Amino acid sequence: MKLLILDRDGVINYDSDAYIKSLDEWIPLPGAVEAIARLSKAGWTVAVATNQSGLARGYYDLATLDAMHARLRELVAEQGGEVGLIVHCPHGPDDGCTCRKPKPGMLQQIAAHYATPLDGIWFVGDSRGDLDAALAVHCQPVLVKTGKGERTLSKPLPAGTLIFDDLAAIADQLLL
Ligand SMILES: [Mg+2]
Ligand SMILES: [Zn+2]
Repeated sequence: MKLLILDRDGVINYDSDAYIKSLDEWIPLPGAVEAIARLSKAGWTVAVATNQSGLARGYYDLATLDAMHARLRELVAEQGGEVGLIVHCPHGPDDGCTCRKPKPGMLQQIAAHYATPLDGIWFVGDSRGDLDAALAVHCQPVLVKTGKGERTLSKPLPAGTLIFDDLAAIADQLLL
């Protein structure tokens, strides 16, 4: 299958060091919704793996997170596309879970859901933890310059990391 996995904050929507805590703060990056819709309409399954430690920190609740993801699905649907499985890690950094990136648990959940191997699947993120999660399960690490991407780029990256301006540029590449 044509599977693409995305980080959420800084890839699909604007990120904030103060967390995305409400539906009002969940604002898509320019061209991101359209890129997902274009990929979906071309037969790509676009799944999402997102760290949401703000849940553990009590900054927002699951209903609010669900509302953000319903909004994402709705916006992509308006453009004729579909969002695949969205998995989130609700834990904090000290909870010792296996899903919080750089751990690859969410990528493995997505692979299990679709019963497909992860080898070579592109995982797109804006943080070093995304790239490391990708490498841990032999996904192709892909960095976008949106969100924290420029900050991530200022340090050495894992060998073989692909770099794109944004999600729209990735869609352009995959849909060539
Ligand atoms: Mg991110
Ligand atoms: Zn977790």
